[in-house]
Amino acid sequence: MNTIYTETMKECIRCGKCTINCDFLRKYGLMHSLKDLNRLRELSFHCFMCGECERYCPKGINGKIITQAIRIEQAEKNTGMPAINGYEKLIEEKADYLYKNYQHANNHTVLFMGCNFPAYYPESAKRLSRLFREKYGIGTVYECCGKPVMELGAQRLAQKSIEAIQDRMHKMNVKELVMVCPNCYMYLKDRLDIRMVSIFEKFTELGIGEVSEGSKMYVFQPCPDRAEGEWLRYIRKFLKDRIEIIEGVQCCGLGGCAKTQEPEIAQGFAERIIQKNYPVIYTYCASCAGNLSRNGCRNVRHLIFEILGLCEEKPDIYNNGRNRKESKFW
Ligand code: SF4
Ligand code: SF4
Repeated sequence: MNTIYTETMKECIRCGKCTINCDFLRKYGLMHSLKDLNRLRELSFHCFMCGECERYCPKGINGKIITQAIRIEQAEKNTGMPAINGYEKLIEEKADYLYKNYQHANNHTVLFMGCNFPAYYPESAKRLSRLFREKYGIGTVYECCGKPVMELGAQRLAQKSIEAIQDRMHKMNVKELVMVCPNCYMYLKDRLDIRMVSIFEKFTELGIGEVSEGSKMYVFQPCPDRAEGEWLRYIRKFLKDRIEIIEGVQCCGLGGCAKTQEPEIAQGFAERIIQKNYPVIYTYCASCAGNLSRNGCRNVRHLIFEILGLCEEKPDIYNNGRNRKESKFW
């Protein structure tokens, strides 16, 4: 039995605050306690791995860490492969990313696009890449960080993917990665031995982007940046006190690959936002933008465009798979 999560769960005082604040735990009447461990195991692929429960837990227990440990334990009993059917294609695509493209990575500093930004914003990804290359001598790499593989529990495959990325970067003599996606950043920052900065931090360093004043901007904060708010701090330099965080929604619905197990809960996250009737929903994660748009949120915009003053491209929710494939040749 994995000691990380059993030791963590021992701390639980069964106050129920995690349950109240999580649609998944509430649906099944669960808490992060040893008493509920067996059921949590059965439902490990129903957790969105958003980490919201930690915000409310007086003991600092994080369901994401528990779920991750359970999924890894389950994969280890399944020759290292995810203990769930239906993700074979995802593993095939992302374990050694099929559409990686390093042909513009011949600079010390490169943009790390991730896989979803080019998928949802193909024209903007190409424009951003051109702008950085032509004006600042910054290259581009189209690569997947491997986080979805890890989140499915396939730890060994995810580790191999990290080693392969690091090896390629070293061979290309890359010294700094400018991360376009907060998921890639949070996942890779302690796993790669290469300096990593958020794209918004880079804007400040290069003196690009517009500081804007005006009405409130409603921002949907991607899960990985909620605890620390590191990316948000850089974004605030441009938007000052205009930002109003959208509260009361755990996740965009894509997290932890739980969408397939809990489609109604995932749709419910978007419904909660729709009911608020925000004129525009801003975010800084392409996956959130794509998923919220797909689930019916209108007018979802990425803050990269707002700050750079680039014309807005709507998330391409119909051709994202095709765009990802094509990015191999951009
Ligand atoms: S990580 Fe998210 S979905 Fe999972 S238990 Fe915590 S709040 Fe609920
Ligand atoms: S909030 Fe923390 S202490 Fe309270 S029931 Fe949940 S896991 Fe246990």
